[in-house]
Amino acid sequence: MKNISILGATGSIGQNTLDLISSDENNFKVVGLTGSNNIDLLAENAIKFKAEVVATANESKFHDLKEMLSGHKIEVCAGKNGLLEVASRQADWVMSAIVGSAGLLPGLKALDAGANLALANKESMVAAGPIMKRTSEAKGVKLIPVDSEHSAISQIIKGEERNSLSKIIITASGGAFRDLTKTELIDVTPDQASKHPNWDMGKRITIDSASLFNKALEVIEAKEFFDIKASEIEVLIHPQSLVHAIAYFCDGGMKAHIGPPDMRHAIAYALYEEKRFNLSLEEVNLSEVGTLNFEKPDLLKYPALQLGFDVIEQGGLAGAAFNAAKEEALDNFLDYNLSFLGMADVVRATMDDLTSKNLLSSEVELEAVMEIDLQARVTAKTFVDKF
Ligand code: NDP
Repeated sequence: MKNISILGATGSIGQNTLDLISSDENNFKVVGLTGSNNIDLLAENAIKFKAEVVATANESKFHDLKEMLSGHKIEVCAGKNGLLEVASRQADWVMSAIVGSAGLLPGLKALDAGANLALANKESMVAAGPIMKRTSEAKGVKLIPVDSEHSAISQIIKGEERNSLSKIIITASGGAFRDLTKTELIDVTPDQASKHPNWDMGKRITIDSASLFNKALEVIEAKEFFDIKASEIEVLIHPQSLVHAIAYFCDGGMKAHIGPPDMRHAIAYALYEEKRFNLSLEEVNLSEVGTLNFEKPDLLKYPALQLGFDVIEQGGLAGAAFNAAKEEALDNFLDYNLSFLGMADVVRATMDDLTSKNLLSSEVELEAVMEIDLQARVTAKTFVDKF
């Protein structure tokens, strides 16, 4: 019986994780669940999975959630401290699936409390990869990739010598606008950007997929997980979303990971700690698929992607600043204050500004990460009107 908690249980990754658990419920005990606004779903899942403790990030929902759970032996908490309370409860395995930088401290707390952490929340690796890795090493617990590309990489390099790996390809679907030209992107709306052709995901990551900000985050995440240089990572647009990653080895051999675009595969691989579980997912029929296409992304159309590679080269606090500026830019796009293409302009201007003030070169320590996160958001806001 494995004790597990899910941070971000009401989201797309959280729900997929609970779906897997419900199909093998004798082997799992749910300790804690967190959500934010969707307290109906949080309460329903807390009762169904007999959670010990739940937290909503939204403090104004505390009383309603408590009311919904009255009569059940489930502890209820709220706010940032509530999330930390859930994350600190004794668990063997915790899924980190809160969206955005709000996932950093709860994920770190779970590692610190001695849980193996399945990391969907790529933002914590981008902003504070060295801290996440140091904490997992110090506590002797695992940091397990859940992003489909990173799960794929971990599967194809398993058993290989690190120095035999010469390059990694991370694929990108190209998102909602892959068939549009740069000019056609000028007036696209948040609603249009929220429709992913292949994956069913939360709204923010879906829009980040359309701009390739998501791929920029993943490039940085790959560097942190696999200790690989920017020059050893390539991104290719692969519209079928079946090949998730390819590794090149020094003898000319290559290994690709192919699978359906369904996050339950990567989540299960993390949940069962690298063992295969029969998921009964629909098989990919390659003769029906026929052709697998790969092409280099157009960096003029997807300027966000280059920013990810630049962050790796820059190191230090660049990842934390990049992630925060990107979140601020996305908020402004969602509020119709900024155009789709303007997001990359705002993030580029923010990074240039912070770099020119020499604010990004410090060591990656938690206090410095939190400070630069705030500073990057404030700076990004000042650029929103300019683009
Ligand atoms: P969703 O938007 O579907 O879910 C986000 C979760 O975080 C929900 O439980 C939400 O609560 C909660 N949440 C939102 N804001 C806050 C906050 N400020 N504090 C605490 N909790 C909050 O996102 P996804 O499941 O799509 O993504 C989760 C993470 O996984 C992201 O980092 C994403 O990049 C990553 N990921 C997602 C993939 C996918 O297929 N979806 C694939 C690979 C990575 P509520 O809904 O109750 O408001």
